[in-house]
Amino acid sequence: MKWKEQMLSLKAYQPGRTTDDVKKEYGLKKVVKLASNENPFGSSEKVKECIRAYADSFAIYPDGYTGSLRTVISEFLQLDEKQLIFGNGSDEIILMISRAMLEPGKNTVMAAPTFPQYRHNAIVEGAEIREIELLEGAHDLDKMANAIDENTAIVWLCSPNNPTGIHITDSELRAFLDRVPQDVFVVLDEAYYEYVTAEDYFDAREIIKQYKNVIVLRTFSKIYGLAAFRIGYGFADESLIAQLDPVREPFNVNSLGQQAAAAAISDQSFIEMCSSENKAGLEQFYAFCKEENLDYYPSEANFILIDFKCDSNELFEYLMSKGYIVRSGAALGVPGTVRVTIGSKEQNEGVMKAMKSFLTETVKR
Ligand SMILES: *Cc1c(COP(=O)(O)O)cnc(C)c1O
Repeated sequence: MKWKEQMLSLKAYQPGRTTDDVKKEYGLKKVVKLASNENPFGSSEKVKECIRAYADSFAIYPDGYTGSLRTVISEFLQLDEKQLIFGNGSDEIILMISRAMLEPGKNTVMAAPTFPQYRHNAIVEGAEIREIELLEGAHDLDKMANAIDENTAIVWLCSPNNPTGIHITDSELRAFLDRVPQDVFVVLDEAYYEYVTAEDYFDAREIIKQYKNVIVLRTFSKIYGLAAFRIGYGFADESLIAQLDPVREPFNVNSLGQQAAAAAISDQSFIEMCSSENKAGLEQFYAFCKEENLDYYPSEANFILIDFKCDSNELFEYLMSKGYIVRSGAALGVPGTVRVTIGSKEQNEGVMKAMKSFLTETVKR
């Protein structure tokens, strides 16, 4: 077979363990998954109502233009409908951008560690990857700008960054974008945007007005609690969207998801509740880290990366045996740490209790 050379060694995405899986393996009655930054409060009641009403239309292809959801989001964000693109999760938009722009001979600049799909797609397309190490959990924007040359096609920015939770400020972002040539595509991944409360955060809609080479990615998978439906979207200058759109599959966004997302966006009080519960949850973790003398990054997202300075796979396994699935830092490129999704108050207390017993049982301090 004539596979692309790079496909021969590329591994498929390793999904986290499912709760059923872990229940079976450890003989547990209850398992809490705090590994994928899903919403512990589920989704809006409005979503459930609209999905029940949709059960008669399963034989019909989805709206390939994502028309009604497009109208809802363009009104919500005060953008033109032509400035929007939808994907089967923002993962798919990352794939579309990579497919449309990357090829051997081109390069792409990103932070390390950051969301792994930027790198994964670049490998598939055979592009050179320029990874710039984080500086205390934040993008090193100066080094990233220096890494751009005439063959750079895409720069990936993730704010707040997964897995550190650190955001890019308005002034940092503008200073960076001022240095990026007009023909270099900048992807600004804001998967956790709705959780951000920092006052110095940028307004992405102002950014795309001023910088015509920037696309912003958002998703319904995180705070909206609709990960199962796979709905992500991007917004940018109309000309960028028009050039990217032909790479998209004809019916890439499923019908149920289109309905669910439109219903979810109409319930902003649910989003505000989740965001404020998340802030309270982060405070719980900060207090725990201070008490236990653990380093962590202050987070603008719904997860926290905690440095246990231990074998993170061992901690990961230990927490799993107690019924808590987290992400091992070893898998994220930050050995010694774990990334924990902020859960409900009780879930947070539970996982912290398990962490505490790990510290007393296994770590000699
Ligand atoms: C979760 C996540 C995504 C993917 O979201 P989907 O819309 O579910 O594909 C994209 N970027 C970052 C940084 C994420 O954490």
